[in-house]
Amino acid sequence: KEYVSDQEVRWCPGCGDYAVLAAFQGFLPELGIKRENVAMVSGIGCSSRFPYYLSTYGMHSIHGRAPAIATGLAVARPDLSVWVVTGDGDALSIGGNHLIHTLRRNVNLKILLFNNRIYGLTKGQYSPTSEPGKVTKSTPMGSVDTPFNPVSLALGAEATFVARTVDSDRKHLTEVLRQAAAHRGTAFVEIYQNCPIFNDNAFDAIKDPETREDAIIPLVHGEPIRFGTDKRLGVVREGFASLAVKEIASLPNGEADLVVHDAHTEDPAYAFALSRLTDGGVLHQAPIGVFRSVDKPAYDDLVREQIETARGHGSADLQSLINGSDTWTID
Ligand code: SF4
Repeated sequence: KEYVSDQEVRWCPGCGDYAVLAAFQGFLPELGIKRENVAMVSGIGCSSRFPYYLSTYGMHSIHGRAPAIATGLAVARPDLSVWVVTGDGDALSIGGNHLIHTLRRNVNLKILLFNNRIYGLTKGQYSPTSEPGKVTKSTPMGSVDTPFNPVSLALGAEATFVARTVDSDRKHLTEVLRQAAAHRGTAFVEIYQNCPIFNDNAFDAIKDPETREDAIIPLVHGEPIRFGTDKRLGVVREGFASLAVKEIASLPNGEADLVVHDAHTEDPAYAFALSRLTDGGVLHQAPIGVFRSVDKPAYDDLVREQIETARGHGSADLQSLINGSDTWTID
């Protein structure tokens, strides 16, 4: 109850956003920080109403620009826990540029991307994650676009923490939030989120108890990856992932190999290869879990370090540096 705001929640009945909100409200007390030190920044879209429903500080900001606003906040206020809430349209279409630069900079903030593969707020147009051939109001003959795989995109920008989870799996979602919160730098979390009004059942294959066993490829650091019936393991092993696979053990029957997942692998090519196991069309299969978690200096820490260094020098020193007439030694 501690993090529940007094605002009326205005999502459609059955929306996956409710489950994410409940999980997040349940998780926040674990951070052990004051409510006023949690900042939620969102863009525009259904998911971007999130900050209203938490009794933290927050900003329902500009379409696609939440990562830029949150970057400023993270640099100026290192005492805050800064979270971005966005959707597939907000983050990957109008906000694509801001997203990738935040990821490559490794700003100390957490980005939750609710992916429902449709524009919900504007009533059902295809989005950057809609599958090819998707028939919507704006694509009456089917989408001819190639969709983004958000996890691949984040890994392409060399994000230091990249994960995927599902709205309806509270236990898994909470565990991913826990790991994201503990990460220093940008933590990018894609959440498969059902939109029952405009794109219902988009994730049925990975939610249905009868199919989920084959559809989900669980990623747990230090655990063998179960590839189910998919035969693309060979692609992972013999392609870029061979750079990074730490341990391969043959099964006794010799029919298949196991790859022990190492989320701490420095080269993002390994996690990228795993991300390609996501079915690009109608979703029948997807790796779920933490793809990558590596250490790298955070942008805002480095900026503050420079400011502190600059404060230790006189203005004449700084002018010399700007003019290029002197060299500066930074300890
Ligand atoms: Fe949720 Fe879809 Fe309704 Fe938006 S349109 S609130 S995503 S169910």
